[in-house]
Amino acid sequence: MLQKEKEIGLRAVAAAMAMTAAVQKEMTGGDTLTKSDRSPVTIADFATQALICKALGLHFPGVPIVGEEDSQAIRQPENREIFTKIVRYLKLYDPALDEKMICDLIDMGGDEPDGTFWTLDPIDGTKGFLRGEQFAIALALVQDGQVRLGILGCPNLPVGSGGTLFWAIRGKGSWKIPARGGIAAAIHASSLNEPPLMKFVESYESSHSDKDTQLDISRRLGISSPPEQMDSQVKYGIVASGLADIYLRIPNPATPDYREKIWDHAAGSLIVEEAGGRVSDIDGKKLDFSAGKTLHHNRGILATNGAVHDRVLEIIAEIAANK
Ligand code: AMP
Ligand code: MG
Repeated sequence: MLQKEKEIGLRAVAAAMAMTAAVQKEMTGGDTLTKSDRSPVTIADFATQALICKALGLHFPGVPIVGEEDSQAIRQPENREIFTKIVRYLKLYDPALDEKMICDLIDMGGDEPDGTFWTLDPIDGTKGFLRGEQFAIALALVQDGQVRLGILGCPNLPVGSGGTLFWAIRGKGSWKIPARGGIAAAIHASSLNEPPLMKFVESYESSHSDKDTQLDISRRLGISSPPEQMDSQVKYGIVASGLADIYLRIPNPATPDYREKIWDHAAGSLIVEEAGGRVSDIDGKKLDFSAGKTLHHNRGILATNGAVHDRVLEIIAEIAANK
């Protein structure tokens, strides 16, 4: 089940990984736009969304795609230069593409979540991408509110390797493969039981979570080194493969109404769960992918190796009770 979805998805994400790695190396300051929510978007975000939508549209016509980007900004005359670069990168993959076709491909990702749909974050961790650090290409298939297939392309993991592709199909475990090809290997969350020995990861960007509280929690667990900071869903890949044990994302007090986007968590959360780990929000509730484009019914994220999950939830509740 879902074999064709997995094969086509992996191939499309691997192609996008190679393209984005090239873009990341060649980026200049002018290759970035600022969206209305003040977040950055680059030529790689648009080009990846076009490339992956093209593959999905060809092989799975009629299945909605809920992607993060749309073509509106690159159609503005002042963004001509950026658009030209996007066209140039995409023509390397398909010389027949023209500007109109590229905008249409990007806008294939403009569907609403409903029934069975794909969700795509073409560049998750754009800020990490711009710093030359970690980012991920995240694609997931959601069916009736449940993530069934998750694919995570991590071009800089490990650094300098050509990248790692992770995937999971619900009920079939989690896997990784070197992006340049090789043998697929099952991955497993760590079996550590002693919190003080555990590795704790969090977002690099301070505004995306509550780092003071996260540090407090890691200390209460007895962990002496500070949390390791890393952009994007690469954190889920790290927990799923046993390289870290706890990924915590407590809402930043400055943005209490922020709701997590489905494309920021669908692929990664399934990969951790299928690797034997546990994922919930910070109240211990399962992530609810049936509430539209955001995880409207959830607050924050906790992904762990499973063993330490309840202990972290307890500490979060204790802190909340004493506030
Ligand atoms: P990370 O690198 O794990 O922080 O994940 C990057 C994602 O954080 C981006 O794709 C954004 O969608 C998301 N993000 C942006 N603003 C916030 C916020 N205030 N709180 C939580 N996440 C955010
Ligand atoms: Mg994202």
